[in-house]
Amino acid sequence: MVKSGLKELIGTNISLPSPPAVAVQILNTVQKDKTGMKELADIIATDPALTGKMLQIANSGFYALSSKVTNIDRALSVLGTNLVKNIALSFVIATDFHDKGRDDFDFDGYWRNSVTAAVSAELLIQQLGIKDEDIFVTALLHNIGMLVIYQQKRNEYLKLIEDRHLRQNQLTQSEKNLFSFDHQQVGSVTVENWGLPRHITEPISYHHNPEDAAEEFQATAYLLHFADRMAGIYTANECAEQVRLLQKDLAQHYSLSPEQIRTLLDLVVEKSIGILKAFEIDPGNMKPYSQMLQEANEELGRLNLSYEQLVIELKEAKEKSERLAKELIDANLRLNDLVNTDGLTGLYNHRYFQDQLKKELDRSARYKSPVSLILFDIDHFKKVNDTYGHPAGDQVLINIAKAINQTIRPSDILARYGGEEFAVILPETNISGVKVFAARLRRCVEGLITYYESEKIKVTISVGGTTFDPEQPEVTKEVLFRTADRGLYMSKDNGRNQVTILATENAPAP
Ligand code: GH3
Ligand code: MG
Ligand code: MG
Repeated sequence: MVKSGLKELIGTNISLPSPPAVAVQILNTVQKDKTGMKELADIIATDPALTGKMLQIANSGFYALSSKVTNIDRALSVLGTNLVKNIALSFVIATDFHDKGRDDFDFDGYWRNSVTAAVSAELLIQQLGIKDEDIFVTALLHNIGMLVIYQQKRNEYLKLIEDRHLRQNQLTQSEKNLFSFDHQQVGSVTVENWGLPRHITEPISYHHNPEDAAEEFQATAYLLHFADRMAGIYTANECAEQVRLLQKDLAQHYSLSPEQIRTLLDLVVEKSIGILKAFEIDPGNMKPYSQMLQEANEELGRLNLSYEQLVIELKEAKEKSERLAKELIDANLRLNDLVNTDGLTGLYNHRYFQDQLKKELDRSARYKSPVSLILFDIDHFKKVNDTYGHPAGDQVLINIAKAINQTIRPSDILARYGGEEFAVILPETNISGVKVFAARLRRCVEGLITYYESEKIKVTISVGGTTFDPEQPEVTKEVLFRTADRGLYMSKDNGRNQVTILATENAPAP
């Protein structure tokens, strides 16, 4: 739409507001060089409240002044006529358009956003090293069209603002749909009517789509665009994603480092709080962005910490219970060992031997598989003790246990069931198997030398054995044992160091 057509359209729909009287006076001084300066000082001086605000701004730290400014003349000379004019204009307009009588529109929120945008724009040009004395007032008025539309089309506009929980770009679209113009255009036409120059009015028309502005106004349109978004962080509850996007766009458009952007965003709050007070607008609980981030991170950190702690504690508890379970198993095993094994040789003891013999007999009866039993006794062992001493005898017992343990299968059960009396249970072993094993056993001990101190001790054993025949399931472990024992004594009687294997049927009746 051509500009004049748009103006006409707006003009027929909206009666544009006139600027406040003092603003007119201020604006009129603009063209007049030296006399303008004097007049401006007079205009401001007639309004003590305005004077106070002007000095407050001048000394806010916003403009890097070397000394405190205590009167308007001094402000004019250090800040320059144009800047003072713009600050004064800002106050006059903001005060005049702050309709406190109405509570259906959030004027405070509106002006908080506009002032923060003005501060953002000013800080942005300072950061970029651009000089633009009009940027503050331009940014301050960039959304003035919203106020104008609100004043003229109150109910429709309130409904639109309420309806949308939309972002600014969607707002301009909704405005266009409803009125055929948006707040950018209305704002621009309004301030143009007030006599503000094109380098203020044009960027206002394009602050949501700066890329569409004419080339000469594009840079300022972008400044407004970014100032608007920067202010949005603090005044429009922007979500984290919008903030991240803003940082990315700022970095891209102005080649600013993340550090510079962070500093800039923090500075916006620091400076805005002072300026907002001068504008008599409650800054609310504006916090620097980095502080908001830190608080969010701390909250997250607390959540993470408790989660991590929970995980650590669970892990520790699990490890502890696993450790305890393992200790319990170990303790039980040790206890079992103590209960089931012989302290000197480490072999199974008498009790365990008896248990296992019963189990193996039951098993072989069930599976119809043979099981053999060997008993052996050291020959003349008393003499060993007598000759070399009891500890030497112990060593012989230990060595025999070790040697035999190495010759048996894992399924065989070797036990020390008496002083120098041993037994071997041989599952799945028939009579010929037990004969072979017994002979090997005898030879093994015969060949064994126990070195004790300077002595070489050799002993022999007498062996008796038998096999349980699963075809005779009535055979008890007592019969089996007695048969093997009989074999053993037959070996002793026959001269020792020999093997006697008997079949169970040879066992005498109990
Ligand atoms: P035989 O050939 O008839 O079996 O003669 P023996 O001397 O081996 O038989 P006897 O039963 O007369 O003696 C067994 C000896 O074994 C007596 C005992 O001191 C000894 N003995 C039993 N247990 C141990 C032990 O744990 N350590 C030692 N060093 N000797 C033991
Ligand atoms: Mg003996
Ligand atoms: Mg004996």
